[in-house]
Amino acid sequence: MNIRRIGSAAAAVTLALGLAACGSDDGGDGDQLRVGIKFDQPGLGLKEGNEYTGFDVDVATYVAEQLGTPAEDIEWVQAPSAQRETLLETGQVDMIVATYSITDSRKEKVDFAGPYFIAGQDLLVRQDDDSITGPESLDGKRLCSVTGSTSAQNVKEEVPGVNLQEFGTYSECVSALVSNAVDALTTDDTILAGYAAQDQYQGQLKVVGAPFSEELYGIGIQKGDTEKCEQINEAIREMISDGSWETAVEENLGKAGFTPGEGNPPNPEACA
Ligand code: GLU
Repeated sequence: MNIRRIGSAAAAVTLALGLAACGSDDGGDGDQLRVGIKFDQPGLGLKEGNEYTGFDVDVATYVAEQLGTPAEDIEWVQAPSAQRETLLETGQVDMIVATYSITDSRKEKVDFAGPYFIAGQDLLVRQDDDSITGPESLDGKRLCSVTGSTSAQNVKEEVPGVNLQEFGTYSECVSALVSNAVDALTTDDTILAGYAAQDQYQGQLKVVGAPFSEELYGIGIQKGDTEKCEQINEAIREMISDGSWETAVEENLGKAGFTPGEGNPPNPEACA
């Protein structure tokens, strides 16, 4: 439906009926694709003013284009870890590309295309701290992670009784780490590398470099849309085979000195 083509009276009726394309704040034609990303993860999903950058942003843009939505019609929506399933279930976004690990419990609520990347959980500590070398050295340490993430869940299983503080975003954990309010931050190595490489933290932080989980990043969509899932998988395969995946990895993660681990690029699984 193109609202601009409808007479103003009809448009008013449409609005009154509440059928106007919600969330498209540009007065556009309602064909926008709403994509959930992180806004505070440099190298993956980062919002700076009206600029969105990162590997997830590039993957989402490529996939959207393959699905028929040009980049300018994407509406980026912030998708904090704990809100991702709800954002999809309530239809507030059409897809989520936000360092979103495929897990069985999440699969009860949403479907995943992909994986399009494999990361591993690691630890970020202050540069001068040699006492933390892996999850086994976290006893008595103050650890930070994010609510609703596999990172928080994994570390609770791995190190029972760990002194874990859960925040809403990883950037809050980074601030706490720099200000000595916590001793370590745990999440995916991709995310940690991005923070360690930020200009403002130059020389202050380091990634431990001993990954202790496998995180398969999927593209979250509403449950039951197998056709869309297959289309997205096809787009991911295309992105890998035409070299765009490699370029996106180099441009976004390479800057932080990050090289993808074993298993990359992965093969998208068959959709259920
Ligand atoms: N990939 C993990 C997850 O999906 C950690 C990163 C995140 O919270 O986005 O939970």
